[in-house]
Amino acid sequence: MANIILLGPPGAGKGTQAKRLVDARGMVQLSTGDMLREAKTSGTDMGRRVAEVMERGQLVTDDIVIGLIGEKIAKGSRGGFIFDGFPRTLPQADALGDLLAAKGQGLDAVIEMQVDDAALVARITGRSTCGNCGAVYHDVTHPPKIAGVCDACGSHDLRRRADDNEDALKTRLMEYYKKTSPLIGYYYAKGQLSAVDGLADVETVATAIASVLDKA
Ligand code: ADP
Ligand code: AMP
Repeated sequence: MANIILLGPPGAGKGTQAKRLVDARGMVQLSTGDMLREAKTSGTDMGRRVAEVMERGQLVTDDIVIGLIGEKIAKGSRGGFIFDGFPRTLPQADALGDLLAAKGQGLDAVIEMQVDDAALVARITGRSTCGNCGAVYHDVTHPPKIAGVCDACGSHDLRRRADDNEDALKTRLMEYYKKTSPLIGYYYAKGQLSAVDGLADVETVATAIASVLDKA
């Protein structure tokens, strides 16, 4: 069992690779983005506030996401956790360390998925996600076999995200460089960082991640 972080800007391929690890290794994917999108539909005041922040491409406050992750870690996972989109700030990284330590656990690897901004625009503006099972598609590089129908579960509910547009992406990238990229130095200094080429095709990235995990 291993606990890992997939670290990278929006569109780096974190969700795509996390889903493969869930299938291949029985790990549990913890995506704070998915949890917040769920909270958005709850109809509560908190849900509405979160929705506005997300649509602009800004980060939600640390206490909200740390609370969401804390609940999941408390439940445990036999195959280990894949943290996808969390932590995104240094206080979140410290909180994650504390939450895992309280369970007698730690991080086995932090995998930085390296991509360039030009590729991210193309990836984000072509992305769709199955509203039923969460499978991720791309209009050009990974379209579903039958247009509008999820290959994995047959659902017709393929969705575009409200923040997957060029304007929100500019803010999301700025948030990444300002607040999240310092985590690369943080985990490097702790000796936990490994980098993979996120521009390679999905299979090649998966192989690179597997080799990091097998050494962890
Ligand atoms: P993230 O979770 O990091 O935001 P996703 O996994 O949702 O990123 O991927 C963003 C988009 O890029 C999706 O449309 C996905 O199909 C596509 N994608 C993911 N990995 C690759 C890859 N290695 N090569 C080309 N396209 C990819
Ligand atoms: P993602 O699905 O990871 O691309 O996240 C979508 C949006 O959710 C982000 O642009 C933020 O507004 C919010 N979000 C997700 N995870 C976090 C986090 N760890 N900290 C703060 N905001 C987050």
